[in-house]
Amino acid sequence: MLKINETRLLSDIEELARIGATADGGVSRPALTAVDLEARRWFQRKVAEAGLAYAQDGAGNQSAILHSDPPGAKRILAGSHLDSVPNGGRYDGSLGVLVALEALRTLKDHDIVPALTLEALNFTDEESAIMGLMGSKAVAGRLSMADYGRSRVDAAELSRRFAAAGITRESMLTATRDDVLAWVELHIEQGTRLESAGLDIGVVDAIVGIRSLHVTFRGEAAHAGTMPMNQRRDALWGAASFVLRARRHVMDNYSPGVCNVGMIQAAPGAFNIVPAEVACALEFRHGSDAEMDAMEVDLLRLLEECAAEFDLSVSQQATPPVIPARMNESVMGAIERAADNLGLSHERMLSFAGHDTQNMAAIAPAAMYFVPSVKGISHNPNELTTDGDCVKGANLMLHTLLELTTAFA
Ligand SMILES: [Zn+2]
Repeated sequence: MLKINETRLLSDIEELARIGATADGGVSRPALTAVDLEARRWFQRKVAEAGLAYAQDGAGNQSAILHSDPPGAKRILAGSHLDSVPNGGRYDGSLGVLVALEALRTLKDHDIVPALTLEALNFTDEESAIMGLMGSKAVAGRLSMADYGRSRVDAAELSRRFAAAGITRESMLTATRDDVLAWVELHIEQGTRLESAGLDIGVVDAIVGIRSLHVTFRGEAAHAGTMPMNQRRDALWGAASFVLRARRHVMDNYSPGVCNVGMIQAAPGAFNIVPAEVACALEFRHGSDAEMDAMEVDLLRLLEECAAEFDLSVSQQATPPVIPARMNESVMGAIERAADNLGLSHERMLSFAGHDTQNMAAIAPAAMYFVPSVKGISHNPNELTTDGDCVKGANLMLHTLLELTTAFA
């Protein structure tokens, strides 16, 4: 059975990790900063050394291309992102780009001309240093000038970074593609489900949707000593009750869905004043939109109940939601057949984090798979996927691409 070049893949991981390396073993490569540009040049050099074709689109997405014979316009795409969060790990995103590149190089080494043209991609700015999922949004036609306006870096810095990477405000809107037959991405799990279950591979069947609400409980400020306990309208009591009841309710009724209250602020905010107002940030995630609708109804009812329990009022304001992305059955099937052929154990699971694949799913049959993350650590210098798991993931990419060229030819 055809296998990728392990030594080459592992040395690539080491080499790339030196670009933007931090003292504690992680990497800092925010999108289109000097170090990210260095990583991008490194990728381009690797593509040239491999004798693959190279392309960069208007949004700065980089591609290694292995042409079919005769060359066809429609392609199978795979990849991820080389940028990282500040002080992040060396596997998040990078491993997905490197295994896609390695799969193409392996085919080239063995003079295998694929039935369909294959492309290994590095998407620009997945990690939100600038706009977030910028490259994949651009490819999916989901990027607009409004995203440019909402950039996290100021206008001068943004135009400097764009210019250095050969991108313009206009060009980023020209990266939309209609030549994609299928998309597949390898990513580290960033969770502990695979490790706990002793599995090699997690085949993602949906990327969760996210809904967020700003919630405010309102009671009345009072003297923390003189006001009797049974007469207080303590806004924090309502919020505290909600946090624990929401946890129980979601665990009992919406598993594997999750909810989080990640910010809580009491006002006026002093030792000796009963809190009059509490603002919290509530977020919940699930792979099914219908389940998210039901979760929302339940959580809103729970808010009212918790407010009533302590004689408070409550209001909430929603922020724009992220819709769950279902993965494509044919692409998941290709991953699973390839995993079976390689003797890799696998199970379907949700992705609780956002990925470029959610955008690709809007324009083509798409799916992604996870390899284990030691202790689930991610966005952290201690992020680790063992060499053995990197190699398994790369062989799975190679054989998934071969399965896809058959399925979509
Ligand atoms: Zn990532």
